[in-house]
Amino acid sequence: PATLDAAALRADFPILQQQVNGHPLVYLDSGATSQRPRQVLQAEYDFLTGANAAVHRGAHTLAAEATDHFEDARAVVAGFVGARPEQLVWISGATLGINLVAYAIGNATAGRGAPASARFALAPGDEIVTTEIEHHANLIPWQELAARTGAVLRHIPAHDDGTLDMDAAAEVISERTRIVAFTHVSNVLGIINPVEDLVALAQRVGALTVLDACQSAPHLRLDLPALGVDLAVFSGHKMLGPYGVGGLYGRSDVLETLPPFLTGGSMITTVTLDEAGYLPPPQRFEAGTQPIGPAVGLAAAVTYIQDAGIDAIHAHEARLAARMREGLVQIPGIRLLGDAPGAERVGLWSFDVDGVHAHDAGQFLDAQGIAVRVGHHCAAPLHRRFGITASVRASLALYNTEDDVDALLDAVSGIRPYFGVNA
Ligand code: PMP
Repeated sequence: PATLDAAALRADFPILQQQVNGHPLVYLDSGATSQRPRQVLQAEYDFLTGANAAVHRGAHTLAAEATDHFEDARAVVAGFVGARPEQLVWISGATLGINLVAYAIGNATAGRGAPASARFALAPGDEIVTTEIEHHANLIPWQELAARTGAVLRHIPAHDDGTLDMDAAAEVISERTRIVAFTHVSNVLGIINPVEDLVALAQRVGALTVLDACQSAPHLRLDLPALGVDLAVFSGHKMLGPYGVGGLYGRSDVLETLPPFLTGGSMITTVTLDEAGYLPPPQRFEAGTQPIGPAVGLAAAVTYIQDAGIDAIHAHEARLAARMREGLVQIPGIRLLGDAPGAERVGLWSFDVDGVHAHDAGQFLDAQGIAVRVGHHCAAPLHRRFGITASVRASLALYNTEDDVDALLDAVSGIRPYFGVNA
């Protein structure tokens, strides 16, 4: 199996070379945002200093070069998730992508797109299914869509160990279900959900599937067409790329019939004062001036990941996560969230520290140069499900090492003694 030399790769990440609060930075918050290697920063710099121009318009040389860079980037990022270029819509991030889909479905219900896209229209009593473990970005857009259309929102529950209750899923997904939106990997639990089983349940009743691939895209080999989902989203900044760019993948027949969400320049054929014709996908969903430099940066990030090897990355992170688990379970008062026996996982652990608020724990770790995320991680209902309001999350990326994990374990074992909580 391919291995990864994380210690060598770290040299590509300028931000990791610093001290924080007098300690070497231990960055364990890549689940919130990852760091960028020089290659990504350089690709954006080269584009901005050599070829920057608005794309798909203008006859000048730079405009043509910028368009080539932009469309080449699309092909690279689409290929990374097993898709064809025209199946990849640039979005600013997963939040925009899920809102785009929800608003487009709303437009299929009531907007001018309605006649051509009747297959997506919702009627009162139709059901939208999501899960108890979603990030707010894959929950609230569906709450709003339900409120606008009279559809009913239902949830697939989770077991105490964080795995989805698939028996319940088979009941919740019914003939009334029109949309099933779920995450590939929860940003709190790290468990890889059974995408194919959920897709099969949805397909049985003809429901549209929407996958949140934010936490899987940087860590797992992804073949979205093979997974069978209709639509999927991911964010560039979580996969070594820039902010402000991400991908919305769609099956061709879905993108071709889904009405647009945002309208304006760059997505039209002919326009009169009274009406407009729309371009085919992906341009139909890309109104306005696009994040061109960020798209070029994201392609460089994907290339960096491919050069390191996505399977080697997954194996490296799994090894570190196993080491982290082994250490954490030995520390008195630490409760792991989603510690499901035998579950396939990516490299992150969230935990509760008995008797210490997550924010206090986070500050204690920060004082030792260790960056973790504390709070509900935009998954308040999931924390409520576990009877807590906040947790500490340590999330890994390819540049983390055993030393990072050991520094975390050493520091976590000092939290409860520091706050005077008895073991
Ligand atoms: N879904 C999941 C699972 C996430 O972890 C995140 C980011 N924390 C999002 C959606 C939202 O991504 P963004 O903030 O990049 O839009």
